[in-house]
Amino acid sequence: AAMREQRIKKTKTVCTYCGVGCSFDIWTKDRKILKVEPSIEAPANGISTCIKGKFGWDFVNSEERLTSPLIREGDSFREASWEEALTLIASKFTEIKEKHGAHSLSFISSSKCTNEESYLMQKLARGVIGTNNIDNCSRYCQTPATMGLFRTVGHGGDSGTIKDIERSELVIIIGANTAESHPVLATRVKRSQKLKGQKLIVADLRRHEMADRADLFIQPKAGSDLVWLSAVAKYIIDQGWAADEFLRDHVNGLDEFTANLQTFTLEYAEQATGLSQETLISVAEAIHQAKSTCVLWAMGVTQHSGGSDTSTAISNLLLVTGNYGRPNCGSYPLRGHNNVQGASDFGSMPDRLPSYEKVADESVRAKYEAAWGVKIPAEPGLNNHEMVQGILDGHVKCMYLKGEDMGIVDSNINHVHAAYEKLEFFVVQDIFLTRTAQFADVVLPASPSLEKEGTFTNTERRIQRLYQVFEPLGNSKPDWQIITEIANRLGAGWDYTHPSDIMLEAAQLAPLFAGVTYERLEGYNSLQWPVAADGSDTPVLFLDGFPFPDKKARLYPVDWTQPVEFGEEYDIHVNNGRLLEHFHEGNMTYQSKGITSKTPGTWLEVSHELAEERGIKDGTLVRLSSPYGNVKVHCLVTDRVKGKEVYLPMNDSGEAAINLLTSSYADKDTDTPAYKETSAKMEILQQE
Ligand code: SF4
Repeated sequence: AAMREQRIKKTKTVCTYCGVGCSFDIWTKDRKILKVEPSIEAPANGISTCIKGKFGWDFVNSEERLTSPLIREGDSFREASWEEALTLIASKFTEIKEKHGAHSLSFISSSKCTNEESYLMQKLARGVIGTNNIDNCSRYCQTPATMGLFRTVGHGGDSGTIKDIERSELVIIIGANTAESHPVLATRVKRSQKLKGQKLIVADLRRHEMADRADLFIQPKAGSDLVWLSAVAKYIIDQGWAADEFLRDHVNGLDEFTANLQTFTLEYAEQATGLSQETLISVAEAIHQAKSTCVLWAMGVTQHSGGSDTSTAISNLLLVTGNYGRPNCGSYPLRGHNNVQGASDFGSMPDRLPSYEKVADESVRAKYEAAWGVKIPAEPGLNNHEMVQGILDGHVKCMYLKGEDMGIVDSNINHVHAAYEKLEFFVVQDIFLTRTAQFADVVLPASPSLEKEGTFTNTERRIQRLYQVFEPLGNSKPDWQIITEIANRLGAGWDYTHPSDIMLEAAQLAPLFAGVTYERLEGYNSLQWPVAADGSDTPVLFLDGFPFPDKKARLYPVDWTQPVEFGEEYDIHVNNGRLLEHFHEGNMTYQSKGITSKTPGTWLEVSHELAEERGIKDGTLVRLSSPYGNVKVHCLVTDRVKGKEVYLPMNDSGEAAINLLTSSYADKDTDTPAYKETSAKMEILQQE
């Protein structure tokens, strides 16, 4: 019995799915997960989790897991030893660098990997190979939000905590399906609405659960959020409701901003957004009446041609109304993956080193050059989007990608696959043989979060430790070990023996993490960046001013970019997003029986109007075609969508993969794909 007891253990971890960052204990016996037990000590979630955190772990022991390196041989792969695979990678990287230069190599980090692993990936690119061609999947989601915040308030993260959202008098959710994409955070809003009389405004194309619960639900025309946000800001200023004192003491650029707003009259906004003037006034009044307002937003805002500008407009509105620099208010771009925040924080970006310090800044480069003993190029590198184009244009020859099924999650995947075919050498590191890995020359088996140590940073900038639950399966290895081995085969001489060594180095170089240590993160302890050298952290940003030389924020004028249209024949607007049960493309959740038994596949949501017009019923099989590809999917007739608006969840990587339809149009400031600007024509293939 004592032996048996020993085999049963409890380990604290952090959820591998969404950016809420729930932490909990996992009870295991050998490799079997007995239960997931949330703890009252968990800072982001307390005793709550959602279905994914509770039941979404079967993938760890899936028979589909990669357990050995694979090397391509013709159309298939053969198993190889680590020695052979790593030697091949080192020799190919060296050969390609010698032949075509360092910038012919490209690196993609993962929002599923730890902070330490993102730090190492950018160090490999910059410090060993000598290129800034490094990016991560926030390029597909939240880079426009970060841009909007950099322009206005100077830090690219949530300005407060989940508790601030809970305590706010008014919450505005724009283009975010919070109840399904950030379930535990949504329960906080639901609870505050019920118990504290918190008011909720939801702006979305689709009447999702939070829209049903809202005090005011507005449905602006697709891609027109910037217009109503600007009109509301103008109306507030015109009414004399702006936070004059705050603006005078803490914000620059009011005159220029107000002048630019003159276009955004109520009449103009009514025509551009389809929202009535009364509705726009109601939104303005609600913000004026609330002592504190939080705005939460996600992909419905960012994945547009003007995603950065709309994110900027949100932050402008919060500045005008004085909703920064104090508790219970501010901006909350909801980070999608568990570590999408950390992947960028720790420097996996083409123009930023860890802590968002600019590559272009000579003194920043000098600091890293001294520490790493290398020369870092001054020119920013290529982002994901530019890497794909670079491959097609012939100047990018090699890609090393980890933990990112880019071949299914990037937009216009037929185009991306054509690029993969052109690569001279492609290394994919993942836990499964993903759609992307199928194009690789070498596939390296990595370990998921339960098989390693490290830290993740959630949407509220909270850094939390995860502890190793299991040994790596088969011959798989934690990503930080694999990157270290590749670097050392290229002569780097890295001597990290544990992720804490990596954090120690990052903390010495990156000001936002100066006081981060593993000791301070022991157990359920956490730290919210910026973390000062003495270990004090910052749950609420901007209490002592904004991180600009004069400590003042900036109102940043923006204009409206009309959404892209594919042409008249593509008359159906295809919205897309998540489902509660599945995460993203479903690589992990489809391996979890507790989830697939409930939600085995996907469907297309079709409005009653469209169903009647085209003779569609529940189960009708349709084909949607855009200029970039087509999908086949069964319909579900629902009042969640209206008119010619349809909704295709993104959890299918086969015939109904949304990115067979999406284009290569992108946010003009960050190259984030305009996934939400997709239209298609529809034909019925088969009635149920
Ligand atoms: Fe995991 Fe997000 Fe669910 Fe929490 S809300 S359990 S972090 S998926």
